[in-house]
Amino acid sequence: MITKKSTRELNYMRDAGRVVAGTFAELEVAIKPGVTTKELDTIAEDFIVRQGARPAFKGLYGFPASICASLNEEVVHGTPGLRRLQSGDIIGIDIGAEINGYFGDSAVTFPVGTIQDKDLELIRVTEEALFTGIDQAVAGNRLTDISHHIQKYVEEHGFSIVRDYVGHGIGSKMHEEPQVPNFGPPGRGARLEPGMTLAIEPMVNMGTNEVMTLPDNWTVVTRDGKLSAHFEHTIAITRGKAEVLTRL
Ligand code: MG
Ligand code: MG
Repeated sequence: MITKKSTRELNYMRDAGRVVAGTFAELEVAIKPGVTTKELDTIAEDFIVRQGARPAFKGLYGFPASICASLNEEVVHGTPGLRRLQSGDIIGIDIGAEINGYFGDSAVTFPVGTIQDKDLELIRVTEEALFTGIDQAVAGNRLTDISHHIQKYVEEHGFSIVRDYVGHGIGSKMHEEPQVPNFGPPGRGARLEPGMTLAIEPMVNMGTNEVMTLPDNWTVVTRDGKLSAHFEHTIAITRGKAEVLTRL
């Protein structure tokens, strides 16, 4: 069942979303050549806790850290560690926060130092694909109108969309119904109604859309070793344009 949130619940989700967005603002200045992903994790966790919130990924399904940090060919669920960022890398950061029992979830892919034009284009197209999906997240549309427009946008730009991982409903749980695929035909699934809250999150690959999980059982990488980018926002369906909750 897809839950619709009350005004009170939406306010809690706005609070959680603000914490997540604020964490990205902190990380943006810290992301530079030489920093380790573990250091980024500590910065994020400290900030989230200082806001009176809880890092929602820590312990979720046993995940060992407060952020996912996915470098280059890593698609999602990269675990922070002692690797140092280098100029030319791209790094996808995924953050979840919980406050008063409600969740926010967002991901951004950052360039590190100076990166190649083609890699920057991958990042740009992924973010634009997310907003193309958000534009479809309006009351009266069907769920897969979001999915279809994301896929179309990505493929028109010569990249591929990951099938194995999808977006999701979110609210008093990090992952709620429905699943929000980033591909497929339009006009299917639930009809969107005000009060529904979704995490929309395209994962876009430079080469094949095929992915696999590394032996650490967390890190998902592209099968061909080419780059992958990831953007995500938590949004609320309203009577007009969707409200992006994970933005300052
Ligand atoms: Mg996320
Ligand atoms: Mg998510």
